[in-house]
Amino acid sequence: MKVAILSESPADEAAIRILVDGILGRQTELINLPMLRTRNWVSVFQILPAVLYHLHYETDAEALVVVVDSDNTAVHTPSHDQPDGAEEECRLCRLRGKVFQFQKRFTPAAGRAQIKTAIGLAVPAIEAWFRCGVDPQITEAALIQKMGAPIREVKNRLKLDVYGIKRASLELKTRRGTEEAERLAQNIDELESLFPNGFGSLARDVRKW
Ligand SMILES: [Zn+2]
Repeated sequence: MKVAILSESPADEAAIRILVDGILGRQTELINLPMLRTRNWVSVFQILPAVLYHLHYETDAEALVVVVDSDNTAVHTPSHDQPDGAEEECRLCRLRGKVFQFQKRFTPAAGRAQIKTAIGLAVPAIEAWFRCGVDPQITEAALIQKMGAPIREVKNRLKLDVYGIKRASLELKTRRGTEEAERLAQNIDELESLFPNGFGSLARDVRKW
């Protein structure tokens, strides 16, 4: 299966691909997005339409995975999945809305199925997923409780625990993220049960492909 990954950095994308393969139980083939090097959630939103356009008309990609950090914004909950339940403050709902809005404009190309999508929300940052199963205090529910505190402190603590330093290089982030994703891919059920909303949504989308 040919899959493209869009997230906040190439390091995150490498780890997310391993997690997606873990959910699917088989290896995907990566479709590169060469012109797109994003650095934060805002740019993910901005380039999403161009990415969908490129994948639909210029590649044979079958699916697109998008993951952003929640920071201290609303966490996706099952109520958002209900008809008319989408929450404007939830980045996952906003990404879904944007995908829907743009995909319906595309003309069906000959022999071209619509790009499947899977969207995840890392609460409050992807480093929390990397601590799952290592630090028993790190769960989505526990982190939601901490989101009243300055989010930078919470994120810095997570980065320090994962990388050993607050400002890791791209190389270190990629290496550590890949190591942790390979560990987590062996136990997707645990990650899904401890991060049922942000990671759970991603896993449920992937299983519908
Ligand atoms: Zn939502």
